[in-house]
This record gives sequence, structure tokens and C-alpha cells, in this order.
Amino acid sequence: MNVSISTRGKLSRAFSLLMAATFLVSLAIYATVVQAKEKKPPSIILITNVNVWDGTSKSVKKGQDVLVVDNIINQVGKGIKMSGAKVIDGKGGTLIPGLIDMHAHFCIQEGMLVGRDGYDQMAMGARAHVSMRQYLDQGFTTARDTGCNILGMAKAINNGLLEGPRLFPSGGFLSQTGGHADTGSFNDIPGRVDDLERHGFGYIVDGVTEARRAARQNLRAGATQIKVMAGGGVASEFDPIHTTQMSAEEMKAIVEVAKDYGTYVLVHAYHDRSVNRAIDAGARVIEHNFLVSEKTIKRMKKEGVALSAQAVMSLEAFGNPESITFFSADQKAKAAAVNKGATQMFKWARKHGVLIVTGGDMFGPAYNTRQADNMVWMSKVGFTPLEIMKMGTSSAAKVLSWSGGMNPYKYGELGVIKKGAYADLIIIDGDPLKDIKVLNDYKDKFKVIMKDGKVLKNTL
Ligand SMILES: [Zn+2]
Repeated sequence: MNVSISTRGKLSRAFSLLMAATFLVSLAIYATVVQAKEKKPPSIILITNVNVWDGTSKSVKKGQDVLVVDNIINQVGKGIKMSGAKVIDGKGGTLIPGLIDMHAHFCIQEGMLVGRDGYDQMAMGARAHVSMRQYLDQGFTTARDTGCNILGMAKAINNGLLEGPRLFPSGGFLSQTGGHADTGSFNDIPGRVDDLERHGFGYIVDGVTEARRAARQNLRAGATQIKVMAGGGVASEFDPIHTTQMSAEEMKAIVEVAKDYGTYVLVHAYHDRSVNRAIDAGARVIEHNFLVSEKTIKRMKKEGVALSAQAVMSLEAFGNPESITFFSADQKAKAAAVNKGATQMFKWARKHGVLIVTGGDMFGPAYNTRQADNMVWMSKVGFTPLEIMKMGTSSAAKVLSWSGGMNPYKYGELGVIKKGAYADLIIIDGDPLKDIKVLNDYKDKFKVIMKDGKVLKNTL
């Protein structure tokens, strides 16, 4: 026994020494890595000879230089000198902030039902990534995803493992039984896990407890804000467009959870009853909003509620519902009704100065490369290029900032060009304040695209 105890004691001492040695070696490696990180010289890029539109001003500032250090804009002005900087001669092009799309659905590429039935999550993720790359190609360096399962992909982008725009993911939609995101089958038993939930698109919630649980689950997994289906829709199977969805209690509970996390709720809603119920509960952004009255628009202005506008969907696609091949006859009829309301609603929103951001809600092969067209189409309902450019940059960034503590990009400003802002930049051969359509010509006219201080494209 004694021998054995003594042997064990020796072994245990040897083990302790080994552990101590391992710890010291690890410490040394760690110190080396940290030192190496500290020693890495900063990336310094000097953009010269550009006309800067800063995201808010009425006109461009001519002949400017912009110094970018790592991922942040360090200086904007005339005649900046910096030895050792990599110089990009902008050749008199217009420098604008990277564009921001406020209504993406990266993992719904051909409508929810195809998404639900046609692909597994691996294929959905791969397709989502193709779409994210296309966003970057079009100068959209930031996107808010308004419902689906890209929480893990957002983390991978932020960790530098995947290339894509900055993402503000909402996680899964919150929708009631029979709501806009209920993709179950006709014979479903109430309370059964919806196919939507199985595929990670969203949660079917009924009652305050379920609503709270789903909102918390999204935020736990990295959602930066919460998306609620508050009324009927165009693309779904079981919800007529006139319906109001989510009780006042459910909506209030979800808003409370969002506020507890320091963030906000955006809602899918079309008409007065659903929009006003959502605003009563504290929702801060209305998606769509196409069938509301002028009174509701005035209330949005008064209470600082933002409008997220889908111009291509409402004005172009829903103006010709037959072109949406995956819509049923009923869905096509809903689309036609929305088209009528949209033109009027946009005019009221402009007249009363509502905070407007642009969110395409455009996905699938036919639309994925047309994101900027959602901005361009706003000119057909009377918005000026300046107003449209703010929607896609500084105004969008303002709404994104409402995600407060959940914002993964809180160490710089987005949507503007100024000292301390993130270096998300585009050099355009042309001036979008004079001709907004230049945004559509991104392949030829966007000469440089930079995200987070990294040059993604440079054809100068
Ligand atoms: Zn949507």
C-alpha cells in the first residue's frame, strides 16, 4: 500500500510539474502571439482626388483626400500627406459611404415554401452566401436581415471566416398561428412545430410566454433586433392581407424583451389597425406600410417611427404580379392591391418627413443583383437623389444604431464619411446626387469598393 501511495505521490508531483511546464510554455506562446499582434503595422490607405458625399450633406465636397487607418476613417480633407500609405488615386470620382439595405432575407432565395421544402440547411447557407457576395459586388456593405436563419453566418462574417456585408440579423420571424410566417400545412394540429421552425426561419408563437421565449431565443443567439409579423401579407398561404396579427399583450411582451436587451422591434404590417397596434406597443420600424392612411403616417412622424420602404416590390413587381412566377392566383391579387396603395403612401411619407430607409425585400436569382434598383425606384414616387441617398446610408445607419448594446459594430459610425466612421466606401465614376441611376451601373461605374478598410474591388 505504502509503496503504491508513494508511487502515486511521485506520479502526481511529476504530473504537476508537467502541467506547470505546459502552462509556462502556453504563456510564452500566448505572449509571442500578443506581441506579434501588437507589432503588426496598421493598414494605412490614402484615397486622393475624390469628391466626397458624406452621407448627409446637400452636395459633394470637391478635391478631397481620405485617410483610412485599419478599418476606420482617420481624416477627411484637402492635401492629406501620409508617408508609407498605400495610395488610391480616385481620379475625380465620387466617394460615398457603403450602401445599406434594410430588408434582406438571405436564406429565402425562391420564396419561403421552396426554402422550406427544396433545400437542406447546408445548401441554404451556401446560397445565402452567394447572395451576400452579390451584396458586396453592388456596394451594399451592410444589410439588416429581416427574418431567417443567418445568425451563425453573421458570426462567421464578424470573425473574418466568411466574406459578406456587415449583418444585423433579426433571427427567426415571430409570427402567430396562421400568421404571415406560418408555413405549416393545411392539416396541422395547433401547437405542432411548424416547418418554418424546423428549418430555422422563425417561430410560431401564441401567447405572451411563447412570444417572450422566442424573442429571447433570438437575442441569445445573436439577433440584433426582433422582427414580428403584425399583419397579413402577400407571399404567405394562410393570412389574408386585411388581418391584424399578434395581440397587444403579445406585441408589448416582445417589445419589452427587446428593450431589456437594449434594442428594438420592427414589424411587417400593411394597414392602419396592425401598424397602430404595433406602434402602441412600442415598435420602432414599420416594414411595408402600403395600405395605411395619412393619419397613421402623421403619427409615425410625430412619434419617430421609421418606414422601411420596398419600392421595387410594391411599385414594379406588384405592379405586374403575373411576373412573379412563384405566386398563386390569390397572392397575385394581394400584390395588385398593395401596388395601388404604395404610390399614395410614399407621397404622404415624403410630405410629412417620415424617417425612411430602403429595404429591398428582394431575393432570388431575378432580384439578387438589383438591390440598388430599390433605391432608384424611389425616384418614381417623387424622392430626390439626395433624399434617396440618405435613405440608403445615414438614415439607415440611424435606425441600425437603435440596436444599441446588441449592435456588433458600435466602435465606429456607419453610413457616413467622417473621422471615426467605419471605412465602408465606394468610389463611383459619376455622381449619384445628379443621376441616381448610376447605382444600377455598379459593374462598370463602381471603381473601388471597400468594406471595413479592406479593398474588395479596385479597377482604377
Ligand atoms: Zn420581408
